[in-house]
Amino acid sequence: MRIICLMLAVTALLFVLASAFTDSARVPDSGSSAQANYARPFEPRTRPAFLPLPPGAVEPAGWLADWCSAARDGYTGHMDQYDDEFKRAWAADHKMTGEKLLWYKGAWPYEGGGYWFDGLARLGYALHDEALIQQAKQRLHAVTDHMHPDGLLFLWWLDRNNPDDRKAVDAALGGWPLWACGLLARAMTGYYAGSNDPRILQALETAYGSDADCLHSISGSMSNVWPAYDTYTWTGNQTIADALDAMFDQERPGLQPNLNRYRTAPDLRPGSTVENQHVVEFLENTTPWAVAYLWTGEISYLQAALGWHELIDRIAMQPHGVPVSDEWYVPTGAFRGSETCDVAGYVWSQVNLLAVSGEGRMADRAERAFFNAGPAAVSRDFKTHVYFQSPNRFADGSPDFPHGPRAGGGSYLAKHSPLCCTAALNRIVPWYVTHMWMATYDNGLVATCYGPCKVTALAADRVPVEMVCDTDYPFNETIEISVKPARTAEFPIYLRIPGWCTNPELSVNGVAVKVIANAKGFVCVRRSWKPGDWVRVHLPMQALVRTGHDNAPGGPYTGEHKPTMVTIPEESSTQGAPYATVSYGPLLFALAIPDTRDANTPDPAARWRFALDVHNPAIRVERRPMPARWNWPLESPLRLKIDAVAIDWAPALKAPALPAQPVVAQQPAERVTLVPYGCTKFRISMFPVVAERKN
Ligand SMILES: [Zn+2]
Repeated sequence: MRIICLMLAVTALLFVLASAFTDSARVPDSGSSAQANYARPFEPRTRPAFLPLPPGAVEPAGWLADWCSAARDGYTGHMDQYDDEFKRAWAADHKMTGEKLLWYKGAWPYEGGGYWFDGLARLGYALHDEALIQQAKQRLHAVTDHMHPDGLLFLWWLDRNNPDDRKAVDAALGGWPLWACGLLARAMTGYYAGSNDPRILQALETAYGSDADCLHSISGSMSNVWPAYDTYTWTGNQTIADALDAMFDQERPGLQPNLNRYRTAPDLRPGSTVENQHVVEFLENTTPWAVAYLWTGEISYLQAALGWHELIDRIAMQPHGVPVSDEWYVPTGAFRGSETCDVAGYVWSQVNLLAVSGEGRMADRAERAFFNAGPAAVSRDFKTHVYFQSPNRFADGSPDFPHGPRAGGGSYLAKHSPLCCTAALNRIVPWYVTHMWMATYDNGLVATCYGPCKVTALAADRVPVEMVCDTDYPFNETIEISVKPARTAEFPIYLRIPGWCTNPELSVNGVAVKVIANAKGFVCVRRSWKPGDWVRVHLPMQALVRTGHDNAPGGPYTGEHKPTMVTIPEESSTQGAPYATVSYGPLLFALAIPDTRDANTPDPAARWRFALDVHNPAIRVERRPMPARWNWPLESPLRLKIDAVAIDWAPALKAPALPAQPVVAQQPAERVTLVPYGCTKFRISMFPVVAERKN
């Protein structure tokens, strides 16, 4: 790092010599990156694999457009009506000082506003909805209008030179309001990318470019790193560069020890043990190390970010695609919760890690979380939500979760206390949609996550290209992409081959193309594209029965907020209650317990006490036409018929558990119907298993 600091002092000289250096340290580069569409004017030499397109370049279509409209008509366009806290969020007259900077004494709307505005602006641009865009603009301008270079980031009414103000912010849970500033800043960078509004950029520059100590001095969170980096890439502001240098300077004691540990990759060997963390903090504090890699060129930082995400995947991943987060991560469990904040945070983290690393498996994870946990977090009309979702939910008020709203956290309500999830859920849909396609440094475009959409973007030598992705994916296997450049132009289109897909097929204008995916899971089609060209991607799905063991600690819980030690399981471990899951492509399937009057009322006549015969599941796929309007219906267009055995199983309401051992079948198998997990409000998706018959 010392070398880098020295290099910064002689930037001008290095600029001349840049081409002579093979070192990957940061040197402002106006060479080839200036030619790349969507490259920022000031970029470090270490580049991300993919360049996110500005919000609005990807518009949802088909079923996804219906879901986006539901988000707009439900929560996202109307948060002020859900709670007065949203009216106060970053309003010019909501200036908390002293002990009111504690979230529970008045400062909470800083967090809530950050989450909401982030979703509001991105959804507005994705839908090209002027009313949403104006709403975002008005709320963000309430901050930009008052920004002051002596303020504390976006807390413009405080004075960073006043020790009392500094002390009050530190006393508020170790700088919690500054963490919330990072959430607002992410909303601002998203809005700026869509609007190019100079007032927003000026506010970001004032926040991060007035004090070179502004990042390093926040020892309790990392949320400001990414927006500060983004602001640098747009402005080249030297004070922001100094702030990022200071942040990543290993010689300076910076982050608190429980966060500084994310600077290096964890031990991923089975059996290794780690102290767990609250998952919102985990996602917020691991993911931005990818920025440290971009800034310093040190690959170990990217390895650290990816390594910690691999760790939580191996220990705590739930079959719906989001780790156990109720609210700390513990081993996978059928009745453990995932907080809706973490559905949003997980999609956010994987999309960002995908852009930096270019690794398709991050997109596999984003799709799995988005298509399964995403819809389960909200009701079909997008007007009520859960705080926690669990793979199995057979009754309202069950299970009792360890933290947050406890047993009530599993109910679909207009809002929960605390309000975090009510705010954060607005991010889930637009973060996915706006990152389904990205750009590349060779002026191509890359299909990162799939779904029906229309893309309007530049490729080749700034040639406008319109692409329509006609598909019902993930409810079918085929994506037809029409490619319409404004003029004939040569550029690459990269297509992701999901990790679960073993025999993909690809054709261009009806002619089969051999699928050769690179090590990161992408196929490149480079050709001279002309209007009328089309690409067909066929991703055959297979029904997969996966088995595992539920090792999660079960209830009753003490409600105590403290870390515990968790262990990366051995693959062959047989400890814990056996379970089986069924998936098809990126979709998890579940036995639905139909919700009747509302999403909290299960059909009392529903039969759900079944175990799967994992050796003879006899799965058959059934398809029906897509409904005219998509709202995650129980009458799903895609269903799986499977053999299951009725069992005696009476899980306790507050502390339910799977049978501890495989169940000996007393009944003949019968056919049951599974539907996508995201279509259900009550369900079994982690099934008990039938004992193998001994002949
Ligand atoms: Zn939450």
